[in-house]
Amino acid sequence: MEDCIFCKIIKGEIPSFKVYEDDQVLAFMDINPISPGHALIIPKNHAANLAEISDGDLSAVHRASKKVMGGIEKALKASGVACVQLNGKGVNQVVMHYHLHLIPKVPGGPDLPVSTWEIIPGDMDEINATAEKISAALKNG
Ligand code: 5GP
Ligand code: ZN
Repeated sequence: MEDCIFCKIIKGEIPSFKVYEDDQVLAFMDINPISPGHALIIPKNHAANLAEISDGDLSAVHRASKKVMGGIEKALKASGVACVQLNGKGVNQVVMHYHLHLIPKVPGGPDLPVSTWEIIPGDMDEINATAEKISAALKNG
């Protein structure tokens, strides 16, 4: 896609720090890292989000994430890696080309905002009503 920054990275029109590549995916470092080692994995075929990406590309991205996570853990002695993927402006997706963030917790690195939210018990009736709404939506296609 012409104006897509990640398509430009795939084509080599914008530089990136690549860590892994195969026929279907590219992994490279995020230039605004939440923690040292913050990497992104993207499909080479443009798709804006989880709704658009093909099953094959989705599988390729997530298979690659196992490899890249292993590299991050080994290289940086990470004690954990958060895999985060945003869909839509409402959850602050900024680049509209599917990407999986791999964000490690490294020794001496910051605690990750994506994995340190406060646990607040929910209302079970409300949770159940919401679950029923979602499963009905799924049944109705
Ligand atoms: P999201 O869309 O999930 O909010 O995040 C987009 C991510 O892409 C951000 O973490 C941002 O730092 C990263 N990003 C935006 N532009 C570039 C770029 O030109 N190169 C690289 N490597 N990362 C980018
Ligand atoms: Zn793109």
